[in-house]
Amino acid sequence: MIEAGSEGPEPPPREYDPHGEGRTPHQTETARLRRSLAELRQGVDAHSIVAFTDPQGVILDVNDKFVELSQYTREELIGAPQSIVHSERHPDSFFAEMWRTVSRGEIWQGTLCNRAKGGSEYWLATTIVPLFDDEGRIERYLSIHTDVTQLYFAEARVRRLAYSDPLTGLPNRAMMLGHLTARADEAARGPLVYVTAEFDDLLMINDTFGFAAGDRFLRRIADEFGRLQAGAGGGSEDGGSRLGRRPELVARVGSAAFGAVFSGFGGGPEEIEAEMAGLAERLGEMLGAAVAKELGVGVEPMIRVSYVPCLPGDGLDGSEVFTRAEIARRFGPRTRGEDGPTAAVFEQSMIDEVRERSELVRDLRRCVAEKRLRLHLQPVVTADRRVVGYEGLVRWADEKRGLVTPAEFIPLAERTGIIIEIGDWVLDEACRILAEWAKDPETSERTVAVNVSERQLRSGVLVESVRAALRRHGAPPERLRLEVTESELHRDLERSVQILEELRAERVQISLDDFGTGYSSLNHLSRLPVQQLKIDRAFVAPVVDDETGAAIVGTIVQLARLMGLSIVAEGIETEAQFEALRGFGIDAFQGFLFGRPEPLAV
Ligand code: C2E
Ligand code: MG
Ligand code: MG
Repeated sequence: MIEAGSEGPEPPPREYDPHGEGRTPHQTETARLRRSLAELRQGVDAHSIVAFTDPQGVILDVNDKFVELSQYTREELIGAPQSIVHSERHPDSFFAEMWRTVSRGEIWQGTLCNRAKGGSEYWLATTIVPLFDDEGRIERYLSIHTDVTQLYFAEARVRRLAYSDPLTGLPNRAMMLGHLTARADEAARGPLVYVTAEFDDLLMINDTFGFAAGDRFLRRIADEFGRLQAGAGGGSEDGGSRLGRRPELVARVGSAAFGAVFSGFGGGPEEIEAEMAGLAERLGEMLGAAVAKELGVGVEPMIRVSYVPCLPGDGLDGSEVFTRAEIARRFGPRTRGEDGPTAAVFEQSMIDEVRERSELVRDLRRCVAEKRLRLHLQPVVTADRRVVGYEGLVRWADEKRGLVTPAEFIPLAERTGIIIEIGDWVLDEACRILAEWAKDPETSERTVAVNVSERQLRSGVLVESVRAALRRHGAPPERLRLEVTESELHRDLERSVQILEELRAERVQISLDDFGTGYSSLNHLSRLPVQQLKIDRAFVAPVVDDETGAAIVGTIVQLARLMGLSIVAEGIETEAQFEALRGFGIDAFQGFLFGRPEPLAV
């Protein structure tokens, strides 16, 4: 409606002189209005809310519906400035734009929020029509409104649902996304920083205590986040002041991830960086304390905090900010324990690393599909250096990278699941070689060992893969060894034992690789259906260095003997090591001293 009060800009200069010829101003006005209103009442439906104002925005007349909604009397309204019914919902710029339009003689349309005398607000879909006198000057304004309050609140409810997280009541990811995008566009308003924290404990809580406990935990964290924003005073309960800066928006952005946007920084990028690093860390500490309380004694919270600076001119949209925050979180420290969480800042190099890694994954996939894997074989010898078998060690022959060693791609293959295909290929290749060797009495006694990774072991199809490979080539199963590590068995011991037993039923041999480096538990060892221990390289070198080193190997050998296991020592590089180990009565030896892993023509 038309502004004439103090809140909005001044109305345009008077263009219309209400003092008509011969009649008192009042008479003139009343006559005109009666006519207009009467005409209008026929023209518009009964639900319309109608008012006339003079060019300055002073109310000249209103209909009954207007009176009713405003809760003022007609007498109070007539002669009052239009602003009597205004709420404080609209900024000055809103009314200024409206004035500009109507004073040009154009029709204005929009939605207004008015306030009734009693204080309640109502929303009006509004059309303001300038009416002209005979000389073409604006004589008055007619405003016609429809009450859309119900609609407005329904929309607000929908908006609230769409942009808030039902569990915690905080704004949700969509809200944060929109906010970041909008804010990043307003580069002139200065830099902002997006901070996120993710809580790895949620999974454990859900698993151990159930989803209701998980929900309680999330609500507790959300409260903590909400408090960062709330509270104008500096009380101890006021998280924002404890942090030293209040976020402009906080939201739950993932199942166990929360985000906060900070702005209003002074200084250059370095100062902002320094302030944010401190702030992100304090936030981590605050949240850590809250989570620790929730988890109870003995459990250290696991939180990952990261932050992303958005400087004017970066041109980031919300989803890019999210991606950067997630990358930084993944790269950053995963903290548990006394040191508390330290925050990771996003750096461009992280993107490069992610890209490199994804290129590696892509190339590895292609290599596997194109069967460019190689199985190098390293000899395993007896005390008199007679070759009794080989360990198959996989290599990736890449055009650009050359021969890639397993340390570089096995962990990645594990994470991406490519290891299953690699493992199948290795098994197949090992069985092919065994079948070839079986044809010649010279080589028919040789064994081939292959490494089985954790993901393969848990795939549920390992036993079937082994059976299929053996059958495909007609290889002797008792010559195939599968190397597993203690740590990979440990995760689900019952299931591991069951799988190893099924493999034993196929007459395949099982070796415990890297013995001594994982969860060495004698208790477990006695339960594992393995036939061989491979003493890790880490224990081989010290054998010649000192007595402790020798004593450890001595103990391992004794233990293995007690359990009826055969023993292989790995990583032997010198004659002295070989000599010392032979003294312990070890069955077989492997290492560069006897041969490196090499491609053999089989
Ligand atoms: P591992 O099973 O313990 O294999 C022995 C590793 O020690 C091999 O490294 C071998 O080249 C190296 N080695 C052997 N003798 C010596 C020595 O005298 N001195 C030194 N310094 N090193 C020696 P490689 O081939 O790089 O393999 C590393 C690891 O990658 C293996 O450790 C195994 O855990 C894994 N791996 C290799 N091939 C496969 C595979 O086909 N499948 C799976 N899942 N893992 C594999
Ligand atoms: Mg091995
Ligand atoms: Mg090993």
